[in-house]
Amino acid sequence: TSGFVSIVGRPNVGKSTLLNRVVGQKIAIMSDKAQTTRNKIQGIYTTDDSQIVFIDTPGIHKPKHRLGDFMVESALSSLRGVDTILFMVSAVEKRGPGDNFIIDKLKEQKTPVFLLINKIDEIHPDKLLEIIDDYRTEMDFEQIIPISATQGNNVDTLLSEILKYL
Ligand code: GDP
Ligand code: MG
Repeated sequence: TSGFVSIVGRPNVGKSTLLNRVVGQKIAIMSDKAQTTRNKIQGIYTTDDSQIVFIDTPGIHKPKHRLGDFMVESALSSLRGVDTILFMVSAVEKRGPGDNFIIDKLKEQKTPVFLLINKIDEIHPDKLLEIIDDYRTEMDFEQIIPISATQGNNVDTLLSEILKYL
């Protein structure tokens, strides 16, 4: 089996960190600065009998000018034709306009969307339940998976869930 997965989320939630972890190779650029990753970067996770091609999708945010419109369109185009979309949010930051803009775009897609709540290494489990409840009221997610991209928590679970949709 093989298939495609897009990772979307506002800047700094940990998309590149996850991508680098699963492909076991430094492909995407990691940075504390917002929007270092400007292009769609693909990484491939392979096992004996399957492969998942990951697309790091920067730039889905409310555009401030027309060039921005084009960049958002380009980012949205990488959502078409994938098997699952991973929408990553940060457990340490409140849901904001940036997250809500992406959620509105994701609601227009037919592709299954997984909500990845990243950076769970930074928060108390009670807080995680609140975050899950909060996002659930906004959209029906196919799966909700709390992870830590830096520590690796639940990344195996994520990969095996993705494989079910290929
Ligand atoms: P992107 O803009 O979404 O691609 O985010 P990056 O992957 O560049 O990560 C932004 C920052 O968040 C970096 O400083 C990462 O080290 C940090 N980060 C990513 N994942 C985690 C995580 O699971 N836990 C913690 N504590 N920090 C993380
Ligand atoms: Mg990035």
